[in-house]
Amino acid sequence: MREVDQTLDAGEQVELHVHLDGAIKPETILYYGRKRGLPLPADTAEGLQNIIGMDMPLSLPGFLAKFDYYMPAIAGCREAIKRIAYEFVEMKAKEGVVYVEVRYSPHLLANSKVTPIPWGQKEGDVTPSDVVALVNQGLQEGERDFRVKVRSILCCMRHMPDWSLEVVELCKKYQQQGVVAIDLAGDETIPDSSLFPGHVQAYEEAVKSGIHRTVHAGEVGSPEVVKQAVENLKTERLGHGYHTLEDQALYDELRAKNMHFEVCPRSSYLTGAWKPETEHAVVRFRRDQANYSINTDDPLIFKSTLNTDYHMLKNLMDFTEDEFKRLNISSAQSSFLPENEKKELLDLLHKAYGM
Ligand SMILES: [Zn+2]
Repeated sequence: MREVDQTLDAGEQVELHVHLDGAIKPETILYYGRKRGLPLPADTAEGLQNIIGMDMPLSLPGFLAKFDYYMPAIAGCREAIKRIAYEFVEMKAKEGVVYVEVRYSPHLLANSKVTPIPWGQKEGDVTPSDVVALVNQGLQEGERDFRVKVRSILCCMRHMPDWSLEVVELCKKYQQQGVVAIDLAGDETIPDSSLFPGHVQAYEEAVKSGIHRTVHAGEVGSPEVVKQAVENLKTERLGHGYHTLEDQALYDELRAKNMHFEVCPRSSYLTGAWKPETEHAVVRFRRDQANYSINTDDPLIFKSTLNTDYHMLKNLMDFTEDEFKRLNISSAQSSFLPENEKKELLDLLHKAYGM
């Protein structure tokens, strides 16, 4: 588990669950930390990677502390925000990804018109709406230069229901610039946070406005959190969703609906969402030929690429190339692209896989 193995041939993968703010190059953090005169915990890219990155499982507070190290270097800086989006596409091109949906909280990268202002920043002039416009520019330029198809998902944060209505409004405002869906991220163990009126209203508005929906649920939270995501937030996909398996009736119901599970193998190991002495949920999903994708989640923190996750499944859980092809086809089918573009993506995959 310790080594990041890059040898599995990259090829035509679809990734649906990756956080932009968890997929930044250490060099870029270093550059903006220096340029903006902000303190960083190391003064080389390698040193930073070692402090921000994880090799062994950590508790949730330990994991969240990682963001405190580097988010101040990026948040509130127009140039940095656009650049991380652009470099993200470059990173995915190198991994062999053909289509990716990348997510982030616009509020957590802003320093104006956001309460509270995150990461201890001074008030500036970058609003959540500016953040989305800048990310869109970076992603679009990346798409053009690296030939990867990219769409984005805007995240609500569980502990910040007051931000959620603005998140759905931003999804609507930027729907023509590549924003395809809304997400709910953050600490799902906050009791009944799926039912906070801010989140519920935002998701209702998303349904009404044709904005797609995913929710982080059942990663560490109980099947009840999954149930709320499905019933109250009308989610179309589940971020992680592993703990659904503890409620057989719920799992059967979701399987019957062909619910999509966004599985993040290495992430689940390093966050402790999966205990290695138990069977990983993805093994059950494979056995049941369920609808799921394989994703990196936060590759900066997990010191990984998408191939690390594929390798983990291949080496530790005996996944085959045929299953990889099958799950990528289901991932494309469960993407938030409009039907005509989904068909194009499926054609591309069928061709690449010789199907
Ligand atoms: Zn996530």
